[in-house]
Amino acid sequence: MGWISVYAIIEKYPKMKADMVYSLAESRLRMFSDEFEVPEYEAPCECYWLSPNKKEYQKDCEYCLGKGIRKTNVNPLSRYSFYELGDDALYMDMEESMQDFRTLMSNGKPTDILTTGQLLSLRTVPNGIITPEKHYFDCDIYRDSEDWTKQFRELCKKYSNHYVVPASCHC
Ligand SMILES: [Zn+2]
Repeated sequence: MGWISVYAIIEKYPKMKADMVYSLAESRLRMFSDEFEVPEYEAPCECYWLSPNKKEYQKDCEYCLGKGIRKTNVNPLSRYSFYELGDDALYMDMEESMQDFRTLMSNGKPTDILTTGQLLSLRTVPNGIITPEKHYFDCDIYRDSEDWTKQFRELCKKYSNHYVVPASCHC
């Protein structure tokens, strides 16, 4: 349980206003949260223990009645319970670097938009990234691991000339 930082990479359109960038970012951040509602579907139940040869389900399980299949509407893509726009660690990094990126398209919103190029010039590495194709990438455990830092930087380069909307997500 705790907070992780997840940044949405947003494509640029001509004459794009900040509201549009935020709205795209929020819809994609929502896709990976528990708040995103999906129709009820069947999923394997978790109530089993392993006997030597197979999974044994609890006969009196209230979710699957011992059948091993339960109905659920939990978002199968969910990575966190909810999100909030903005990431304090990033803002501290920005202030330390003595560059005021926060004026970029701030538009009176409580958070800010930067570009992938600006993000690469900072030390901050988020825990996760959502690409414009709505794919979720994240570090396994540590966001400062070498593998993840490399992958994160490659993603920023792949999506050069894109916007980035930082968010903090509760898991
Ligand atoms: Zn069960």
